[in-house]
Amino acid sequence: MVRHVYPNLMPYTCSLADLPVEEMKQVLGKEQVYKLSFNENPLGPSPKAIEAMQQSLLQLNLYPSSNGEAVLNKIAEKEGVQPHNVILSNGADEMIILVAQTFLEPEDEAIIPEICFVQYLASTHLMGAKPVFSPMKEDLGIDLEGVLQKISEKTKVIFLCNPNNPTGTVIPSDELKAFIERVPENVLVVIDEAYHEFAEGDGYASSVEFVKDFANVFVIRTFSKIYSMAAARIGYGIGQAELVDAVNHVRPPFNVNSIAQAGALASLDDSEHVAESRRNNQIGKQLLCKTFEELGLSYLKSQANFVCVDTGRDGKEVFDRLAERGFIVRTLAGYGLTSSLRVSIGRQEEMEAFVAAFKEVIQN
Ligand SMILES: *Cc1c(COP(=O)(O)O)cnc(C)c1O
Repeated sequence: MVRHVYPNLMPYTCSLADLPVEEMKQVLGKEQVYKLSFNENPLGPSPKAIEAMQQSLLQLNLYPSSNGEAVLNKIAEKEGVQPHNVILSNGADEMIILVAQTFLEPEDEAIIPEICFVQYLASTHLMGAKPVFSPMKEDLGIDLEGVLQKISEKTKVIFLCNPNNPTGTVIPSDELKAFIERVPENVLVVIDEAYHEFAEGDGYASSVEFVKDFANVFVIRTFSKIYSMAAARIGYGIGQAELVDAVNHVRPPFNVNSIAQAGALASLDDSEHVAESRRNNQIGKQLLCKTFEELGLSYLKSQANFVCVDTGRDGKEVFDRLAERGFIVRTLAGYGLTSSLRVSIGRQEEMEAFVAAFKEVIQN
């Protein structure tokens, strides 16, 4: 009875690293668990957003704005585009699914870098389209030449992630522009900027600036990461009006609830909270990187809120020994990186505790 794509679809895993922190505590039998596996912002939402979300509860009997008009307007103003260039989704995850539903036919191919966010693959499979993996560079950056070489008559969508998850590396803006110029106009380039607000170097710039010149560029953002509203589920896409209109044909009405809309609106006004989150991230990232250097371990230079480190030994074993101590990180064996781990940046005191545990594990 199920569709023929069914064997390719997997329910979301519930391994230790994917559990809510309260369940992690139960599984590990510990009162204190440090969840460093989800790239969440440890500071929590802006106090202004919390207040707005609490207020919104009083009108939970009413349907929300079907398209999130007020949020669309505010994002458009902030990004220097028009409201018809913006569309909201139930988290960036839903936007990836909506893009796939809008553009991918079963005969189409979608190009996905080998070491990249897994939802692009799942959404491609959902539509019965064919995923085509492009190789990474030797330094694990996204190889745009490699992507270009995979373009065929059947290519419909290219998924990119910038900064990339799980590596944290960025594609410099000038390279990305030169790449987009070489991509055929009938191929959609999706650029997932979930970590945009954390990036501030290595030639990174948002691809929103390409939207006005390129009808085939679609940028995805989220309120789950720096805005710290992962549980509220709200993300958005930016593209030319025709693209946005096409996705709007597929988007369910009321896909973003009123709590999330209220929180997003207030979050966009709290630049101090964003700045504080960035500061916290820099401090934690510096401490992590310094520790990896002291231990002689190689890591990838990250423009996001996590760092990918090569532990030089079996990553699963290091994961288990960290878990025993109450620290949950992410293994990357699924990408063939059997000795690497991805560590999310927590609060300063969490990172200090992590570093002590990590040293103990690595040095013994
Ligand atoms: C976290 C993440 C998302 C999902 O964000 P939601 O808005 O919570 O669905 C999308 N893309 C990347 C690259 C991410 O890391």
